[in-house]
Amino acid sequence: HTSLISEKTETSAKLYEKACEVIPGGVTANIKYFDPHPLIMEKGKGSKLYDADGNEYIDYLLCYGALILGHGHPEVFHAVEKQLRDAGTTIFGTPHQLEMTMAHKLIDLYPGIDMVRYTNSGLEATLLAVRTAMAYTGKPKLAKFEGHYHGGYDQVLLSVNPDMDQAGDANLPNTVPESKGIPDYYVENTIILPFNDLDATEQILRAHAHELAGVILEPIQGGFIPADREFMKGLRKITEELGIILIFDEVKTGFRLSLGGAQKVYDIKPDLTALGKVLGGGFPVGAIGGKKEIMMISAPNGGKDILTAGADNTDQELGLYHSGTYNGHPTILAAGLATIERLEQPGTMEQLFSSTKTLRNQLEEVYHTHGIDMQTVGMGSIFNIIMTKEPIKNYRDMGHADMKLRKAIDYELLKLGIYTKPLNRYSMSIVHSEEDISRTVEAHDQALKLVRR
Ligand code: PMP
Repeated sequence: HTSLISEKTETSAKLYEKACEVIPGGVTANIKYFDPHPLIMEKGKGSKLYDADGNEYIDYLLCYGALILGHGHPEVFHAVEKQLRDAGTTIFGTPHQLEMTMAHKLIDLYPGIDMVRYTNSGLEATLLAVRTAMAYTGKPKLAKFEGHYHGGYDQVLLSVNPDMDQAGDANLPNTVPESKGIPDYYVENTIILPFNDLDATEQILRAHAHELAGVILEPIQGGFIPADREFMKGLRKITEELGIILIFDEVKTGFRLSLGGAQKVYDIKPDLTALGKVLGGGFPVGAIGGKKEIMMISAPNGGKDILTAGADNTDQELGLYHSGTYNGHPTILAAGLATIERLEQPGTMEQLFSSTKTLRNQLEEVYHTHGIDMQTVGMGSIFNIIMTKEPIKNYRDMGHADMKLRKAIDYELLKLGIYTKPLNRYSMSIVHSEEDISRTVEAHDQALKLVRR
């Protein structure tokens, strides 16, 4: 790796080369890689990240959206320190009161949540939601939407970013695996739906209703392509009629689209909800919530639970098993509660949305001044920069966008101190200032001049 992002990122390049000796591809998650080498970060503060060469960046990746309060928010640090001091330990390994406090918070905020279970990531939350849907309905298949990401496991790592040669008809998409090592079973038992196309979705759901346990979706695809309201309403109506569990994956939209996620904004009650990211205040966490009747299927005293009850209740029916050493981690829940409480302070979400809108408007203005067909697509505190005038309603519509231009600009922006992983969406925090916004807009202007020279 001799090529550099710039002459100012030499240390990152050298460290990356060393990382490659002990870590495959030098990254601990494939998504963190980009050409010619990812930047190695060392510090964060507020809206800024600092790399190993000491370069400063205004951060719009924000750990893929998790850091809604920015880096090192004092209220989160304080809550974590206080929790560690008061408890005298990092974790109890038993039930504790913060699990209930957080559960009440989620029940109050999310219309579709009556009860809560915790996990350690968004991936585990959607996995548990899918298993719960299957356990509750007794049906074997899952439907997901093309272009929607729910974590990197076998059952859902399908048709997230499919090759168009394999993806099939837009109205009846093929199930395309996104990794080696995914057993055929999951390809055969996962049905792919076209997002924002109610008629085609309804036809597929009706044809498979007898075998479909659930439908999972990102209410805002990739965090930035909103579901149409009529589509959402229709999907809720059909799934209810057909006895298919509707799972909202609100890992990105939770606390970002509103404090009560997409379900609050769309005024729709999903049967199950998966949460993550913001919920952990920058620490690994996930949660699943949902209707009491469905959630109760994982209660250990409700069924035969081999690991907790031994041979005592062999005449009971097998229940749903859900476990995890670190589930409900008190230190992490303390960070998450502090984050939510900060967001609940009056005016906070409004200010976050309005600064996002300001940034979006000013960026559009700059690109249009340069004569480029660009639109920002998003809702709430997340958006993406799309180089096309064509409407963007689903995964396939992204094919209209000029990705080459977008990528070239993103690399110039890195050199100019604006951080997002190339081609990634933009997430905002409550600490991104007016100055950050004007610096960002100026950098885009500069980048446009550089790439179009
Ligand atoms: N669902 C959605 C919608 C996500 O955005 C993500 C993470 N990008 C996940 C699930 C998986 O969460 P995690 O990375 O915490 O496992």
